[in-house]
Amino acid sequence: MVRVYQLGALRLAQLHDGYGAIDGNRVFYPARQEEWEAGLAPDPTGFMLNAYQPLLITQGGQHTLVDTGFGEANPSRRRDMQDGLRELGVAAEEIARVIITHAHGDHVSGNTLLRDGAYVPAYPKAEYIVQEGEIAEMRERNDDLWRARFAPLQALGQLRIVDGEVALDEALTLWPMAGHTAGQQGVRMVSQGQHAVFVGDLGLSYKNFETPQWGASWAWSREADEANRRMVAEWAVEHDAILILYHDPRTPWIRLARAGAGYRATPVK
Ligand SMILES: [Zn+2]
Repeated sequence: MVRVYQLGALRLAQLHDGYGAIDGNRVFYPARQEEWEAGLAPDPTGFMLNAYQPLLITQGGQHTLVDTGFGEANPSRRRDMQDGLRELGVAAEEIARVIITHAHGDHVSGNTLLRDGAYVPAYPKAEYIVQEGEIAEMRERNDDLWRARFAPLQALGQLRIVDGEVALDEALTLWPMAGHTAGQQGVRMVSQGQHAVFVGDLGLSYKNFETPQWGASWAWSREADEANRRMVAEWAVEHDAILILYHDPRTPWIRLARAGAGYRATPVK
C-alpha cells in the first residue's frame, strides 16, 4: 500500500524500495547503543531496520520523483518502488522531473536501467536535477556510479546541474543541505499555507532530529551535517512543517517541537 498525503494542492506519495539493516551505532554517532536504542529494536550488535523510500509529488497532473532507489541493482527484493508507481497508475514516461538528493547508491541506482549493454534513463522523459557540488568530484574521477547513473543522462541532455537554492515552481524549492555529502539537497514544499520538506539523509531516523548532535558517522562533514539538521529543524518548528525521511521505516513523517536542547518528534498520521 502506498501512503498518500494531501499537502494543499500537492499529493505526496511515499514509495517503498525495500528494506535492509543498518548499524545504529553509526547512524547515531557518537551515542552509545543504550542511549539511542529505545523504541528502535536493534539486535544486540546495534543493527536496526532501514527502509528506502523515494517520494512522488504530484501537482496538477505533473509528477516529480525524489530519489530513485536501487533500481535493478538489487533484484532479489519482492516488492519495489515500481510496484508503488503501478499502484498509483503512474507510468515511468509520465515522470517529468527527478530530483536527486545525493549521489549514494541507494538513492540513485534507479536513475538508469541496463538494456542491451547500455545504460538508459529509467524515466525517459524526465529532467534529472542534482547539485554541482554533489557530482563534481565523481565526474572528475569518472567513477562507476557516474558512468552508470549520471553520464548517460547527461549525454541525452536530461541532466540538469544546479548550484545552490533553486525555486522549481511556486510549490517546490531545491534546498541545499550539505553535510551528509558535499552537495546534498532537500526539497522544500509549500502549498496553501502548508509546509513540508524532504530531507534526504540529513537524518536517517527521527531520533537524529530529536538529538541533532547524533549524526551519521560516515558524513562528508559531521559539523555541517549537524548545523544543517538544526537549521532545518528550526525552520520546521517555525512553519509547523512535515519532515519526510528517506530511511526511517516506522516514523518516516514527523513534526517537531522544541524540547530542552533538542526536539520532540510526533509522527504524522
Ligand atoms: Zn541513504
